[in-house]
Amino acid sequence: MSGRFFELRAYVPGEQPRDKSYIKLNTNESPYPPAPQVIAAINSREVEDLRLYSDPECKFLREALAAQYSVSPKNILVGNGSDEILSFAFMAFCDNETGVSYPDISYGFYSVFADIYGISKREVPLRGDFSICAEDYSRAGTTIVIANPNAPTGICLSIADIEYIVSSNPGNVVVIDEAYIDFGGESCIPLIKKYCNLLVVQTYSKSRSFAGGRLGYAVGSEELIADLDKLRFSTNPYNVNRLTLVAGITALKEQSYYDNNNRNIIQIREYTSYKLKELGFEPTNSKTNFIFTRHPRLRGKELYQGLRDRGILVRHFEKPRISEYVRISVGTKDEMDTMLNALKEMLD
Ligand code: PMP
Repeated sequence: MSGRFFELRAYVPGEQPRDKSYIKLNTNESPYPPAPQVIAAINSREVEDLRLYSDPECKFLREALAAQYSVSPKNILVGNGSDEILSFAFMAFCDNETGVSYPDISYGFYSVFADIYGISKREVPLRGDFSICAEDYSRAGTTIVIANPNAPTGICLSIADIEYIVSSNPGNVVVIDEAYIDFGGESCIPLIKKYCNLLVVQTYSKSRSFAGGRLGYAVGSEELIADLDKLRFSTNPYNVNRLTLVAGITALKEQSYYDNNNRNIIQIREYTSYKLKELGFEPTNSKTNFIFTRHPRLRGKELYQGLRDRGILVRHFEKPRISEYVRISVGTKDEMDTMLNALKEMLD
């Protein structure tokens, strides 16, 4: 016997093997731990309090995020990772009549969410250089979802382009997924005050070293947030656990620690891209904590396998247009040097 989603093709996360220790450059996690104050805040008293449910309103965290962005807590929704919020957004703002448009090369979850909820998909081709053409989204007549910077290409859209997309679709919701915005992009959160159809989604997973804590949030007009919150209360009102709520509030007070980490990651990314180019690689202009690259002499699959054989995990997507590429998360400088040496060995 099988259920109604028997034919659904599930999202495939990056591998998390347990058989030996790898240098993990495959899921865009931070190489740095959370701020020491965050670690200290998850203390035994908070653990004892796990007997109690978490706050279904996530009041203090929403207030802290609202203060950070100079908006009202009613403009903020928090979720169990930004994946959960994206799932709610697909559920709330699309259906079979109002489809969804997103780039043909983008975050793999978008098509999975569309399939789960029976939403018609318009996959808009990126240009040959993997950039997004904003005009392609004008008057789309669908909900629009764009990762900015895009993944796995790493390439950023300008705020002007985003504003063009949002303003040319006044009757449709535009979701901007800013999972990687803290590595050199400019957030469009300020635009939510001007456009009630804009929803911006961010995460603690990458730039705040908290992938395992599962914390994401959306910023948008009160109406959009109320729609999403209804779904949250209707599926899992305690979606963010107590320890993660405490950590999330504390992390906001330690922004300089994370800013410093993010600067380091940007520097290591630029250093690695430079070294990759010396080896003949062709990386895109990434503004994220990963590098998307190919080599004229080695196929994507060979790059992935050769690195794996040498104890280094990167991500390879067996998909049209990008099967020659690998996505390499930015780790510590030592990890990147080990990875570069492995590539040199493979090329020799
Ligand atoms: N959006 C994009 C573009 C991503 O790459 C990821 C990470 N896989 C997410 C959203 C989800 O991140 P999380 O659920 O950990 O917040």
